[in-house]
Amino acid sequence: AIEIRQLNKWYDDFHALKDIDLTVAHGERIVVCGPSGSGKSTLIRCVNSLETHDSGQIVVDGIVMKDRASVDSIRSEVGMVFQQFNLFPHLTIMQNLTLGPMKARGMSRADAEARAMKYLERVRIPDQAHKKPRALSGGQQQRVAIARSLCMEPKIMLFDEPTSALDPEMISEVLDVIVDLAEDGMTMIVVTHEMGFARRAADRMVFMDQGAVVETGTPEDFFERPRTKRCQTFLNQIL
Ligand code: ATP
Ligand code: MG
Repeated sequence: AIEIRQLNKWYDDFHALKDIDLTVAHGERIVVCGPSGSGKSTLIRCVNSLETHDSGQIVVDGIVMKDRASVDSIRSEVGMVFQQFNLFPHLTIMQNLTLGPMKARGMSRADAEARAMKYLERVRIPDQAHKKPRALSGGQQQRVAIARSLCMEPKIMLFDEPTSALDPEMISEVLDVIVDLAEDGMTMIVVTHEMGFARRAADRMVFMDQGAVVETGTPEDFFERPRTKRCQTFLNQIL
């Protein structure tokens, strides 16, 4: 579970996150949306300490984020997938997947490779293991990035616009993999404007604007009965 209480963040004198309260229960799937610059990336980057916050509290699976040790523990439970796939270009897919488990977890090569194959099958590209990233399509590379995260066996997954760098025909192959994870009970926060995906996979929608959470609700309420003008305007623009 993730508990975010009264979270505030400034970039110099710019107030990027304003009194954010958000609780994500174990196994819950949250989709975060909102206009560009509303603070979506900043919020999820705070959850695994890629950004520091200035006030408020973040608790992940009971661990209060405060010092280096707590940040390391939280990071070991949280996987993150970005818009850009960030694979190591000079390594094969298999080497990309085994690096973390071997270096950070001290796994043997054989165990790490077995685990990597398990997750490559999970994202439906077991036949690509020996290739370099550049030999794969964007959709395949993003599925490798997801598998690489899963190889660390996180309890929580954060996705920051995982399909927005992809050609349209590759979006669904990546979203299908994320839906699979969701159906398996993974706790996740997904920043995306793919509203078909949100309807399929989200337990709860979170709408952000200007650094604040403006509206939350079930996908049905959110799409059919948005309560705020800002949310209505946003939905009209993207739907
Ligand atoms: P997008 O949909 O474009 O990805 P977002 O909702 O993810 O937008 P953020 O990236 O979280 O928005 O940025 C929120 C605000 O904070 C923006 O106004 C942005 O310019 C500002 N910001 C983000 N990162 C920094 C930084 N490192 N330094 C200064 N300002 C920043
Ligand atoms: Mg962003």
